[in-house]
Formats: sequence, C-alpha cells, structure tokens
Amino acid sequence: MASHDLTTGASSGLSIETKSIHAGEPRPRPAGAVVMPIYQSSTYEYTGATDYHDVKYIRLNNNPNQLALNAKIAAIENAEAALVAASGMAAISTALLTVLSSGDHLVALDCLYGGTHGFVTKDLPSFGITHTLVNGNSAEAWQAALRPNTKAFYVETLTNPLLQMADLKGIVEFARAHKLVTLIDNTFASPVNFRPAERGFDITLESCTKYLNGHNDIVAGAAAGRADLIEAMKRRLDHLGGTLDPHACFLLHRGLKTLAVRVWHQNESALRIAEFLHKHAAVSKVNYPGLAEHPQHARAAELFHVNLPAQRQRNLPPYQGGAQGGGFGGMISFELHGGLPAAEQFLSRTRLATVAVSLGGVETLVVRPAAAVHSNLSPQERAKTGIADGLIRLSVGLENTDDLLADFEQALAGRAHR
Ligand SMILES: *Cc1c(COP(=O)(O)O)cnc(C)c1O
Repeated sequence: MASHDLTTGASSGLSIETKSIHAGEPRPRPAGAVVMPIYQSSTYEYTGATDYHDVKYIRLNNNPNQLALNAKIAAIENAEAALVAASGMAAISTALLTVLSSGDHLVALDCLYGGTHGFVTKDLPSFGITHTLVNGNSAEAWQAALRPNTKAFYVETLTNPLLQMADLKGIVEFARAHKLVTLIDNTFASPVNFRPAERGFDITLESCTKYLNGHNDIVAGAAAGRADLIEAMKRRLDHLGGTLDPHACFLLHRGLKTLAVRVWHQNESALRIAEFLHKHAAVSKVNYPGLAEHPQHARAAELFHVNLPAQRQRNLPPYQGGAQGGGFGGMISFELHGGLPAAEQFLSRTRLATVAVSLGGVETLVVRPAAAVHSNLSPQERAKTGIADGLIRLSVGLENTDDLLADFEQALAGRAHR
C-alpha cells in the first residue's frame, strides 16, 4: 500500500475541509488518478503475512479503499486511528463487543439511539454483559451505577430526538477517575462541530449513513480514537464480518470531501429555522442547542467551538467559525400548539421536506418520532422520555433556507394563535 502523506490530525495544522479532501489519499496516486479508484478485488497477491489479520482479503478491513477512508476519518476526527464499518450499528456493536467481555458491566445514557438501546438492553445480556442506564447530568447517578466490574461509559453527543446534551466533560473526568473506557456516538454533531477525541473520549462512533456521507444513499459507519482500541476493534470486525464494501467506500469517500461545507451550511440554516419556529405563534416548543433558551446552550457553544457574540451579530464569514469553529448542527425538534393533529397536518402540508426516517443528508427530512423512530416504546415510556406524540423531528438539508422557511410558513398557516 502506498504511504499516506497528509494523514495525521492536529499536528498537520490543516483545516477540516482541507483534510477531508487531502488526508488519507494514497501517494503516489494510483495510475495518476486524482480521485481514489474503486479496488474491486476480493483478494490480493500474497506478500508473506504471518498473522491472519494481515492477510489481504476483502473482509479483513485492509482493502485500499478501506485504508484510505480510515486515514481520512482519523484525520478529520483528530484521532490516532479510525476504522470504517458496514453500518453505524456495525461500528457500535463491534466497539461494545471489543471493550466488553462476559461478566463486564456498562454504564450508558438513559436516552440512546433506538438500535443501540436495543443492542445494550436485549443483545448484550445474552453475552453475559450487564448495564445500568443513567441520567447524563447526574454525577450521583453515575457514582451509584458503578460496580467493581464496570468497564465502560457509553454516551451520545446530542440525544435523539430532544437534542439534550449530557455533561460530557464531567463524564470524561469521571470515567478517567474510575478507569472506564469512554465511547460516544457523535452522529448528530458530526466531526465538523465536535471531535470527541480532542476532549478525551476513547472511541468516537459515527453513523456515516448520516452526515459523513451526507447524500442519503448508502449505509456505513466508523469508529475513531485510541490506536490500541481501534486495532482491537479491527480484529473483532474481521471476525464479525461487518466490513464496508469497496463500492460503498467510494461513495463515502466522495461524500466526505464536502462534509465541512455541507455541515456549515446546515448549521447556519438550522439556526435560522429554529429561530423562525421559536417565534412562530403556532409552535409551542423548539428543541435546538443553538437557541439561548436551550438548557445546555452554553455547554454546547463551548464544546462545539461556537463564537457566540459573533454569531449573535451575524458577524461571521460566509462559512462561520474559522478553522476549528463549529455550529449547533442541523437537527431540530419541535411541538405545535395543536398537538398530534396539528403535527400531522404540518407533515402533510410541507412540500420541500420529505417525511422519512434518517438524517444528515442533502434532502430535508421530517418525521414524527412517536410514530416512527420511537414506535417501539409504549406511550408511557415515551411520556417518561418526554417524547410527545406530536413532536416533529427535522433534519435540515441543503435547500435554500428562505425556500424552506416559506414552505414551513405555508405548512403552519392557519395554525397561528391557537
Ligand atoms: C442512524 C444512527 C445510528 C445507526 O446507524 P446505521 O448506519 O443506520 O447503522 C446510530 N446512532 C445514531 C445517533 C443514528 O442516528
């Protein structure tokens, strides 16, 4: 394999949009190709590997397309190493099965992505791995959950669909003090807004199906973090088989090159839409970490490197924030005064937003989580988590913001002053 020139993160001094294009690209360029070609070969001439995991075979996560992506994602995340996988869930399940063994105990946030919640609560017990779900803002709860066999702490950057943010700095300190491995699902923020490795998290997980690919057309995942843990994950993934196919690698590679400019636009557009919804008479509640009313607004601004005074004055260059600057992300959720019927009317009236699950792509998507993403919970469980039946989740795409605002205005029309 050719060497990678521009791989490593902070030391390279390059901005994220530059790294997303140049990091991890093989040098010399294969046959001079400016764009990384697809290596559609399941096996490679034997070169004397003595370790099974070093044999060049498509499942063993060492195809040139996989290796280039690993280097690029490590650079983007400012992490020591990275590993792509066949889906976000392949990355998450492989990470947990790498860090945890039979007899171990996991502490995790009490509001997890549905697939992860199912894996932790239904699958891990059958491997002899127990768990305690905790409030992300209660150090007392973390302490009370601790057992002699606790090995890891699992969190998400922003919760789905309420966009709450746990005390991430406190959790890293707590985990360090108790020698726990920290894992964080950073899908909602993306590495443009938050790079957990810079804040001491051991393993960052991304569903690349969402922002990293960004075009709603593949399934892929990635883990980034400590080199020893990523290498151990590679060996487990070699056996579990959740390897990313070279064709999907190519599409993810292409999508990644525009990650930063996409997310910067989505940050700015989502902030304007959240402010519009917040002021709209038909809207009763908006969850968006960029609003001053959000309970963890200051925490999110700090961790996401948002220059708040500049943002308030709209005094920012076209793509705000500068080299390391971020925003509050492209995900919003909100409720209407008319509850469930009003929400259904909004979903049926919007023309630019498609009603569909998933997020992070160029198309704006809306969904009613109680009907889709969280339909596996009972009404009582949903009530406990604060997910109202009429709650709408919005993934802001790359359409013109004014076009989206006009569409939402007409979809909300007639619902004012209720
Ligand atoms: C979509 C998603 C996942 C799972 O990713 P897949 O690529 O669908 O396997 C995990 N976590 C979060 C927060 C997600 O949004």
